[in-house]
Amino acid sequence: METFLEIQSKAKRLESLINLSNNIREKEKRDILVFNDYLYLAVTNPQIVFRDIFQLYHDMVHHYVSEGQDEFINDNEHIGFYNYETRDLFRNDCDEPFFADRLFAYRFMNMTRNFRKGTQNKRIYIFEGPPGSGKSTFLNNLLHKFEEYSRTPAGATYITYWKLDIEKLGGFQSKEIQKIKTLSHKSPLEKRAKQSQNFDFPEKYLEFSCPNNDNPILQIPKNYRKQFLDELIRDESFKEQLFNDKQYEWVFRDIPCAICSSIQKTLLDRLSDPLEVFSMINAKTNHFTRQLGEGISVFNPGDTNIEQTLSNPTLQQMISDLLRNDEIKYTYSYMAKTNNGILALMDIKEHNVDRLKAYHGIISDGVHKVELTEEYIRTLFIGIVNPEDKIHYEQVQSFQDRIISMKIPYVLDYNTEVMIYKSKFNENITNSFLPGVIENFAKIIIASRLDIESPAIKRWISKPEKYSKYIDKNMLLLKMEVYIGILPEWLSEEDKKKFDRQTRIDIISNSENDGHKGISGRKSLSVFNDFCSPSQRPNKYITMEDVKEYFIHNKEELQIDIPQDFIDKLVDLYDYDVMQEIKESIFFYNEEHIERDILNYLFAINFEIGDSKFNNSTSDNVEITEEFYENIERRLLGESSTPTTRKSFRKETQSEYVSVTLTQELGLENKSIKESKLFKNLFVKYTRNLKENALAPYLDNDNFRRAILQYGTSSFNTFDERLKRDVTLLINNLVNKFNYKCPEAAQQICIYVLDKGIVKKY
Ligand SMILES: [Zn+2]
Repeated sequence: METFLEIQSKAKRLESLINLSNNIREKEKRDILVFNDYLYLAVTNPQIVFRDIFQLYHDMVHHYVSEGQDEFINDNEHIGFYNYETRDLFRNDCDEPFFADRLFAYRFMNMTRNFRKGTQNKRIYIFEGPPGSGKSTFLNNLLHKFEEYSRTPAGATYITYWKLDIEKLGGFQSKEIQKIKTLSHKSPLEKRAKQSQNFDFPEKYLEFSCPNNDNPILQIPKNYRKQFLDELIRDESFKEQLFNDKQYEWVFRDIPCAICSSIQKTLLDRLSDPLEVFSMINAKTNHFTRQLGEGISVFNPGDTNIEQTLSNPTLQQMISDLLRNDEIKYTYSYMAKTNNGILALMDIKEHNVDRLKAYHGIISDGVHKVELTEEYIRTLFIGIVNPEDKIHYEQVQSFQDRIISMKIPYVLDYNTEVMIYKSKFNENITNSFLPGVIENFAKIIIASRLDIESPAIKRWISKPEKYSKYIDKNMLLLKMEVYIGILPEWLSEEDKKKFDRQTRIDIISNSENDGHKGISGRKSLSVFNDFCSPSQRPNKYITMEDVKEYFIHNKEELQIDIPQDFIDKLVDLYDYDVMQEIKESIFFYNEEHIERDILNYLFAINFEIGDSKFNNSTSDNVEITEEFYENIERRLLGESSTPTTRKSFRKETQSEYVSVTLTQELGLENKSIKESKLFKNLFVKYTRNLKENALAPYLDNDNFRRAILQYGTSSFNTFDERLKRDVTLLINNLVNKFNYKCPEAAQQICIYVLDKGIVKKY
């Protein structure tokens, strides 16, 4: 026995199922608009209603990709090399993510912009990329987003949907004849009646959509369209565009398909009132569905040629029957289904070569002949191709004008490369590396993909020797930075100035030669996997040394073709960067900290060595020792200062303090000590030397190394206060400002720097 509750819950479930189906039906109903409502929409949202496939494609891309940033936007030389965020277009909600690097995204967006210009419709777009560049993922995701977009309000487009009023048209003839059962004769009508015996005749309307996806506006006779829209549309600025822009030419030039035309003509003959005819025209939202070939078709090279002519015998008979006209042919080609849609070729080889040739003919004529009827084709043709398959069309002269190709090279942006590792392995994979190291791994992979000739960069940097401390002689390391929108700070002011508009344009345009060789996307993953897996490394974090060793050790096996000096220079640049981080960290410009040091110094010079005094202005207990003086004086005077210089400086300072600062400024002028000239001078001296000599006091100081190693242990407490403070500051800043994951990682990098003797090099 079912309990009451069980029955109740069953009923509830059933109820919600009914609701669901009602919702679906409601939703489907909403997808169909009567012609009047469609026109109303055309008045209120003309930008959405008047879109052909090219305009729709443009809007789709911009819907998912927001305007990016150009780091150089504020200088006059910027070229709009934006950093577009393509995540929503190529990665989110996709089965397999496609990672577009900055250069590709930039080119892709520039190409897309042309789709709103109306000059691009007689073209075939071919994306060319080497194996493993992810081009099929790119195409799949693009089409997937297109389907998704067509289901959103922003992506709605409309096609003609016929709703023939059965009663107004006098009902189905053969249905009547069936009733009186006179089926023995041979008149066409009777034959038709016999064939249609088993039809499930609709009651009120015979409904079907235009198989060519005609925009409903085309049903307004071409000769009247302009005047009609002029009266209809209120938005003057849009009207201006509509009547003058090339992108809207189709609105006034295109005509409905043969099927719609002949239906219209017949209806007008039958009803003699155009308004009655329009009452049977509706607009239906066009939902693109790749799986069914609705609006999107994708052909693989192995797909054999499909039936050229498609039809629907049942519907055909009903139309002929209801309209009393055997001349209306409800037949169309597979091309019709992607009219105002997308036809894509996955790889141009085998059968797809023939298809490409056929499309070429159709594009040139704008017409596709199906039996005796002509289909006007407005389709976005896309293909992807491996470079070696280009021979199938490259030689044909007439193809040159029709094909717009765009390259999908291997990733050239090391940040994107790292993003791929994270996505394929583990989001946290970077945590096993010291900061910057995984990026350097990626740079080695990318170096294998770069063309070593960089004419634009060579023109720009006339004396590359001066950067030999930081970069390789082919300047690939510089090129990689420019490709991600960075102008390295180690460049001289002069070279930064020379980075003008033309140089930028040339570098970006030269980049087309990069990314067609070297380690493929696929291989890069296996190399990375191989590198990460053994992991019997002495240190907790993967270091630059580990990366260097791996690549030098496996160079032959990996067949990585990179210039001789590349890895060494990569390490040099890494060392330089790390050195900057450490210098910033040990005494990053902490004003309070510097002021405190100077206040304590000015306080201490009035006492004897060996004294211990409390300084009211800083609340510090100052141990006045030779070491205390030395630490501060080295910061004020530089690393090379001798004890004699320091002592005489101390004496001069003390005398100025007493005679000028104390008596005059603090006494007579009533200034605070921080406002005094002496204090300000010391402050400037201190900060100037600070960064350059940040590590100077500790250069040959074994205690410094030991304190770093013992940081975090109880033995750390045995070091003097100042050293403890500096080491703590260093470690904390490395962790907080420079992304070292924990004190241990920071300790590891400090020891690397000290042991390698980099301090003296940079
Ligand atoms: Zn049509």
